[in-house]
Amino acid sequence: MKRIFKPLRPTFMVRDVTELSPDFLQEWDIKGLILDLDNTLVPYKSNETAPEIQDWVKCMHASDVKLYMVSNALHERVDYWVREFLFPGVGLAAKPFPKFFRRALKALGLPPEQVAMVGDQLFTDVLGGNLAGMRTVMVSPLSDNALPHTKVTRKLERLVLHFLKENAR
Ligand SMILES: [Mg+2]
Repeated sequence: MKRIFKPLRPTFMVRDVTELSPDFLQEWDIKGLILDLDNTLVPYKSNETAPEIQDWVKCMHASDVKLYMVSNALHERVDYWVREFLFPGVGLAAKPFPKFFRRALKALGLPPEQVAMVGDQLFTDVLGGNLAGMRTVMVSPLSDNALPHTKVTRKLERLVLHFLKENAR
């Protein structure tokens, strides 16, 4: 049973990306991050984000950590945010399927062992990142996304996370 759930287990769980300091990443030998967009860097569908998140992106740029965005959002929205954040990325990525994770790793020029996938969703970001051989960071969603299917997904996520917690060892 534990084996089945392994691809759904995040390596780290944090409140938001700002907890990922250069020191923390260095300690775990993580040299690149693949980042989800909606509810990870920017509230769902919003065109604004918190100054703390913008500062964190600048801090990553100033350190040696390389960033790449892999989002399931439309190209137009991803294009806007990669210009704002000044790092590359791709939209309509169909996470958790591996195609665009592979492309991102190639663009970063790093092996999957040195990259972490960061996102707010278990069945796209965490599952996809784990299957691609990366470590995975799950963040709490920046906003409440009220879409009916997301509500169902969130319930399933809570169930899986509860199961993982109960079976931590
Ligand atoms: Mg997301």
